[in-house]
Amino acid sequence: MIVFSIALFIIGIFVGSFLNVVIDRLPRKEGFVTGRSHCDLCGHTLAWYDLVPLLSYALLLGKCRYCKKFIGYEYPLVELTTGILFCIIPLLYPAIPMLSLLDTLFIFSIFVVIFYTDLWYGIIPDITLLLGIVALIPIFVMHPTLLLSSVLSGVVACLFFLALFLGTRGRGMGFGDVKLALLLGLLLGYPRIIVSLYIAFLTGAGIALILILWRKKKLRGDTIPFGPFLILGAVLGLLFGNFLWELLTVYVLHL
Ligand SMILES: [Zn+2]
Repeated sequence: MIVFSIALFIIGIFVGSFLNVVIDRLPRKEGFVTGRSHCDLCGHTLAWYDLVPLLSYALLLGKCRYCKKFIGYEYPLVELTTGILFCIIPLLYPAIPMLSLLDTLFIFSIFVVIFYTDLWYGIIPDITLLLGIVALIPIFVMHPTLLLSSVLSGVVACLFFLALFLGTRGRGMGFGDVKLALLLGLLLGYPRIIVSLYIAFLTGAGIALILILWRKKKLRGDTIPFGPFLILGAVLGLLFGNFLWELLTVYVLHL
């Protein structure tokens, strides 16, 4: 299982390398057929050995081989995130069926794109939400009994965020968050969606407070994208949902 996890980590950083291209280009609505093949800073064409995920970055100490400027931490960060998310699944669930594993890898890839496009560009591309709906199909084929709970969770989560969106006139939440809440409700179902939203609001409020105290953000005006927190909650909900639900109900809410 360790060998399988290491293999998935390596596949993950290569998928992450592709997701970098998607994250780069989706917010600008460019096509991504050709891929990242030249340096963003000097335009020099990159060789295959400049494009090995994580490894090229580490060997070149984060600098472009040709212009020696810092490439930035974004590319290796996306690759590392994807690699870790990929390899963690079989470690936690050694008996996971292949179809569930592949579907979860697909869902996590979509999550990585949403997390970083919203964090860096304040955008949740509609195509990622559509692909998320596609990822639901294998889940419902394997577990048709989950359909009702999923649809209800999706509708309730969506209405809750719609109320927040309308109540704050779009300043607290973007409409992208409303659509994302629908997808996450469908993906997670009850009670995991509750756990996920709880984590999202808790971490979101925590980070917002820290940024305000550091005076990085003003209390009004500047907004912090909420999508990354929703995604963080969803990943933890998918991986540890039932355990966290028990923690939440027994130790936090004392039910
Ligand atoms: Zn360069």
